[in-house]
Amino acid sequence: MTVRTRFAPSPTGMLHIGGVRTALFCWLYARRHGGTFILRVEDTDRERSTDAAVQVILDGMAWLGLTPDEGPFYQTKRYDRYHAVIGQLLQNGHAYQCYCSKTELEELRAGQMARKEKPRYDGRCRHRTEPLAGVTPVVRFRNPDEGQVVVNDIVHGPIVFDSQELDDLIILRSDGNPTYNFCVAVDDWDMGITHVIRGDDHINNTPRQINMLRAMGATPPVYAHLPMILGPDGTKLSKRHGAVSVLEYESAGFLPEALLNYLGRLGWSHGDQELFTIEELVQFFDLDAVNKSASALNPDKLAWTNQQHMMRRSGAELAPRFAWVLAQRGIETGSIDLAAVAECLKERAKTLVEMADGAAFFFADPTEYEAKAASKHLNAETAPVLVAARAALAALEGAWTAAAVHAVLESLVVILGVGLGKVAQPLRVSVAGSGVSPPIDATLAILGAAVALRRIDRAIQYAQAN
Ligand code: GLU
Repeated sequence: MTVRTRFAPSPTGMLHIGGVRTALFCWLYARRHGGTFILRVEDTDRERSTDAAVQVILDGMAWLGLTPDEGPFYQTKRYDRYHAVIGQLLQNGHAYQCYCSKTELEELRAGQMARKEKPRYDGRCRHRTEPLAGVTPVVRFRNPDEGQVVVNDIVHGPIVFDSQELDDLIILRSDGNPTYNFCVAVDDWDMGITHVIRGDDHINNTPRQINMLRAMGATPPVYAHLPMILGPDGTKLSKRHGAVSVLEYESAGFLPEALLNYLGRLGWSHGDQELFTIEELVQFFDLDAVNKSASALNPDKLAWTNQQHMMRRSGAELAPRFAWVLAQRGIETGSIDLAAVAECLKERAKTLVEMADGAAFFFADPTEYEAKAASKHLNAETAPVLVAARAALAALEGAWTAAAVHAVLESLVVILGVGLGKVAQPLRVSVAGSGVSPPIDATLAILGAAVALRRIDRAIQYAQAN
């Protein structure tokens, strides 16, 4: 059997972290088993579906590298097919037209409630032979009266439903629109889905879909319902927790592979390994190691995971995404070598946004010095050190590399008879505006001779005047 999975988001809200984890597990399972991963956009709720949400799904999946092998398919483009299947179900008695009016259904419900019965459609139109003049009927699925539906869920184990609990679902509205559960069943059949992997908020839909699949003559797929992702406080994830579009994680400076690693570990484990490359996730992922219970988001662990992935990348690998984050923030990077900047900052930042903050001084001369650092390191006492350092550095001319800068400062320390800090800190405040920067030799090398000397000259003036 060739594994075929699908991610089937409804574009009625932004693709968020819960949806991404579902997509990841579908993708991983297909990759792991040499199968096919399908993207299906469930856009039949025309009022609530938006183009913007569809775009976030496509862009988000592209950013994460969860590329579908087939699709995107759109349910709204498959209405002819749904209508054809409904025609067949009507013909072979698995569906029937229902002419019940709203009032009639409300009365039925009120009566059932009064008798303390579970409200459900009683199937009164099942045996109607004549159409009702002037009424456009809906079509209902003729649910089996007896027996059980057993969902052999890979994550939760067998879940048993009595067919009696399931009433005759409307599959076609009077306006000609097919309904949600029906479209899912037809699509899973047509697309040859072998494993339906989705959130466990869909468990109650599953027996209905299985009954419809059987009525269509299809073999139901295997199901795996994933437990929910909760907010950090253990309650349902919502906007209040910053449950935002997946693309905001890109803007916030996370690496896609780090987000996927974090989400993979959320609800699934492989021994006590925390850090996985995408290749390792593909190699080790399986549905039987998925947790049964919900897991809560942990922003600190996500940040830690991201930092670990940044540290494992070279500056050159980080540079394109770093450039994107800088561009988002409107920062002009000029001729600065971003790979070199990323290389010397990657151990100091949890995200590319933090990296951008730490790198700001590379792209613009300091307009002012941080007060405390300036009073300590740019003053009458340090001015001569800066003058000496400037002269020695200026002599480097074309040989302006981190190693050469390093050698110059080392010999200066010996000549002046001071510790390296006494030279490095004034230089750091001169070029970075504060006492914090990556190693001074790398910092000066990245800035280049012209910019570094210009900044040191300005700092000398400042130091002499203060
Ligand atoms: N469209 C559904 C949702 O976004 C998923 C349905 C499914 O996976 O079967 O929740």
